Amino acid sequence: MELIAAIERQLAAIGAQGLTRRRRTAETSCAPHQTVDGRAMLAFCANDYLGLAAHPAIIAALQEGAALYGAGSGASHLVSGHGRAHAQFEEHVAAFMAPHIPDVRALYLCTGYMANLAVLSALGADQNAMIFSEALNHASLIDGARLARAGVSVYAHGDVAMLEGQLAASTASTNIVVTDSVFSMDGDLAPLPGLLALCERYGAWLVVDDAHGFGVLGENGRGALEHFNLSSPHLVYVGTLGKAAGVGGAFIAAHASVIELLVQRARPYIYTTAAPPALAHALLTSLDIIGGTEGKARRRHLAQLIHHLDTALSLKRWQRPASTTPIQPIIIGGNDEAMQAAASLHAQGLWVPAIRPPTVPANTARLRVTLSASHTQADVAQLAAAINTLEGNVP
Ligand SMILES: *Cc1c(COP(=O)(O)O)cnc(C)c1O
Repeated sequence: MELIAAIERQLAAIGAQGLTRRRRTAETSCAPHQTVDGRAMLAFCANDYLGLAAHPAIIAALQEGAALYGAGSGASHLVSGHGRAHAQFEEHVAAFMAPHIPDVRALYLCTGYMANLAVLSALGADQNAMIFSEALNHASLIDGARLARAGVSVYAHGDVAMLEGQLAASTASTNIVVTDSVFSMDGDLAPLPGLLALCERYGAWLVVDDAHGFGVLGENGRGALEHFNLSSPHLVYVGTLGKAAGVGGAFIAAHASVIELLVQRARPYIYTTAAPPALAHALLTSLDIIGGTEGKARRRHLAQLIHHLDTALSLKRWQRPASTTPIQPIIIGGNDEAMQAAASLHAQGLWVPAIRPPTVPANTARLRVTLSASHTQADVAQLAAAINTLEGNVP
């Protein structure tokens, strides 16, 4: 059939560029040592930065939540799916983020992808609004800007001066600046203090996607806002809960009026079945761990592992952009070379993903190493030795 043949030509074109993606099947829970496609592997792929995805107390809370509230929510939040567990989690996470956002309220959504669609489509609903989007923003922010009726202007990576020029020239009814806090493929931080100062000067919103910062950054795990000691009514904060928090979903924390607008208007919140309430119940335990002494100890261990990897790697050709976060990229360049490097590590039982365009810019294919508080120093030493040897063997 011609329809199928056209699809097959598209797939062949993807293959010809060395861009075919394939999934591996993990047989066991997310942890450094896991069974993947039937083989024992040491993994450096997950965003489970604190090692909470398989934490016994969170698993027990998930079971308790299912016993209390059942398996599914049965409906969207505005119909009948909004449960006690969702409400409790929203109250707790709002209190947690209160030092950074005056009159804060929080909203729990099914995924971070949907949270970003919700924020940008609702704040940028007016066609006279403008969204100023950082060049390396996550795909969900790009898609959220597409869903908004607002105009979109992209500013260069980390370029506060360029953004200032765009804001100064803007005649929009509402200005919205949006950025990742920790860039997901590079591990570097956005210049949030400079961005917030501009947003205050020009009366703009600052939407911060802290998918890789929440739970990881800050003395108490309150993420990028705590790391930079920021507080402002201009902040609209998105924290995702499938990474450091170890469960799933996301929350938006902002001034109560912003949250009320989202409840009234954000289609990715309104027109979807509420997440299983057991997830929100488990997240209460996750939040306790992140904000308590155990979270502090896990962040301290993670910082030691990052330092250890930094000193143990010695590379000559491959590039290591400066990163102080658990995202540690090793830029190789070509798609095939990056795939071969990942395959050689895989043959040694080390699972490190190769990331290719369009996820990263052309000619910057890379290994994306992520560290977790559940790794040991010996795990990291094994990885560093393997990567050093691999690079030395490349002609
Ligand atoms: C993972 C991620 C998201 C999406 O969050 P999910 O909860 O996985 O849908 C959004 N933004 C960034 C920067 C991410 O890394």
